[in-house]
Amino acid sequence: MPMWTCPYCGSSSGMMYEDRNLKGILCLHPDCGRFDQLDEQRLESEEIRHFYSDL
Ligand SMILES: [Zn+2]
Repeated sequence: MPMWTCPYCGSSSGMMYEDRNLKGILCLHPDCGRFDQLDEQRLESEEIRHFYSDL
């Protein structure tokens, strides 16, 4: 199970997003939809690696 939770609404439903400048997870909660940007430190954390590998 993905371990990510949205820092804004607490939902655990998110979608990985990345482009040249940004890496992060887009919240899929209909009332939220915010973007949780991941810095290098969080990208290397265990819970985020699990989230990425579950997709
Ligand atoms: Zn959210």
